Amino acid sequence: MTRYSAFAIAREALRQHTGWTRAWASPEPASHYDVVIVGAGGHGLATAYYLGKNFGIRNVAIIEKGWLGGGNTGRNTTIIRSNYLQDPSAAIYEKARSLYEGLSQDLNYNVMFSPRGVMMLAQTEHEIRGYKRTEMANKLQGVDTRFIGPAEVKRLVPIMNIEGPRYPVLGALWQPRGGTARHDAVAWGYARACSAMGMHVIQNCEVTGVESAGGEVTAVNTTKGTIGCKKLGIVVAGHSGHLAAMAGFRLPIESVALQAMVSEPIKPCMDVVVMANTVHGYMSQSDKGEMVIGGGADHFNNYTQRGSWQHIEETVRSLIETFPMLSRLKMLRQWGGIVDMTGDRSPIISKTPLGNTFINCGWGTGGFKAIPGSGWAMADLIAKGEPGPLARDFSMFRFREGRFIDESVAAGVAH
Ligand SMILES: Cc1cc2nc3c(=O)[nH]c(=O)nc-3n(C[C@H](O)[C@H](O)[C@H](O)COP(=O)(O)OP(=O)(O)OC[C@H]3O[C@@H](n4cnc5c(N)ncnc54)[C@H](O)[C@@H]3O)c2cc1C
Repeated sequence: MTRYSAFAIAREALRQHTGWTRAWASPEPASHYDVVIVGAGGHGLATAYYLGKNFGIRNVAIIEKGWLGGGNTGRNTTIIRSNYLQDPSAAIYEKARSLYEGLSQDLNYNVMFSPRGVMMLAQTEHEIRGYKRTEMANKLQGVDTRFIGPAEVKRLVPIMNIEGPRYPVLGALWQPRGGTARHDAVAWGYARACSAMGMHVIQNCEVTGVESAGGEVTAVNTTKGTIGCKKLGIVVAGHSGHLAAMAGFRLPIESVALQAMVSEPIKPCMDVVVMANTVHGYMSQSDKGEMVIGGGADHFNNYTQRGSWQHIEETVRSLIETFPMLSRLKMLRQWGGIVDMTGDRSPIISKTPLGNTFINCGWGTGGFKAIPGSGWAMADLIAKGEPGPLARDFSMFRFREGRFIDESVAAGVAH
């Protein structure tokens, strides 16, 4: 693997860029691996990466039915924050956010992490109370957030109309080190680092069945043949229910499409991320100048990865009161991704009824921000067979034990 550096760019410029090697290999699957991870989204790739980096487990295959990051990882609006209410959530999201800070250096791949600050607008008295409570919880958890008033909001985002007739801006929960990263680059960076460790990243290979014996998985059936494994990690977001059914167990998960869109590119006008949960919309400006706008989830279970007219209208209409300038913009494209929702809006990083099989899912509308922390915790679980401190509370069995981690407020807007 060529190491990326300023020196390498200069060297390649001098020799017409003939010396770059492929970023990752595309091998045919071997007949057996120590660990097979199903799903090459961010979470699956990060799991493999930390298995290699933290535990030296490198005989690993990551199997992807489409292309790297072609699921939700490449379809999200890239918001990164850790201002959650409950302690287990703040711990894993803050771990992820702090890993994002050094991820480009760690992976030797520019993931374009931009800690530009994230604000969640308070547009009702109820939200003010909720966010002040979260601010206090975050203080105890060591997460740097603070509640700011409307004047500070206006100073940070001059294009905002804070005196909207229906929902004036009353303040915001502000996380200065929240921000965004380039979603494809996160998948590509992890894939490249996995490949450099000798792991097999296998694309265009769908898992179609799971073979087990004596309560343990022995192999997965794929469109490229049967692949044996000592341990199996299922990390397939919106398809988790399908994979669990193949392995013979059920999950407390619903799958729905979540939608987003981008406008035509315009000059820089907003250098923070804004989330408006009451009117339901969230927005940032990409480096290309497009306004990246997150919409809502479909109100019915489905597996469609596309947008709909209804959501464009609903989302843009609700954001225009707070951002009147949006009414002059053309929307460039829209899309959808299949997200996996749990009842308490918290994820699952868990053992399963099968002894050597582990599952990571339920990140719903907000798992991009968690990728490094989730991969770290999942690798720990797979390597040791028992959850570590970051994953301990996120067992899939918590729903029947009544140990919910209620994040319906922190995850109240789809992002
Ligand atoms: C529109 C939208 C906006 C979002 N905005 C944000 C945001 O701003 N911030 C945030 O934190 N999160 C956001 N999210 C959520 C975030 O994108 C997801 O939680 C996260 O990307 C999930 O990553 P993953 O690796 O678990 O899943 P995915 O990236 O979906 O990866 C799972 C992979 O498994 C593969 N797979 C499925 N079935 C099989 C099979 N049978 N065999 C082999 N491979 C299989 C899929 O092809 C897919 O590539 C958003 C999501 C959407 C859809």
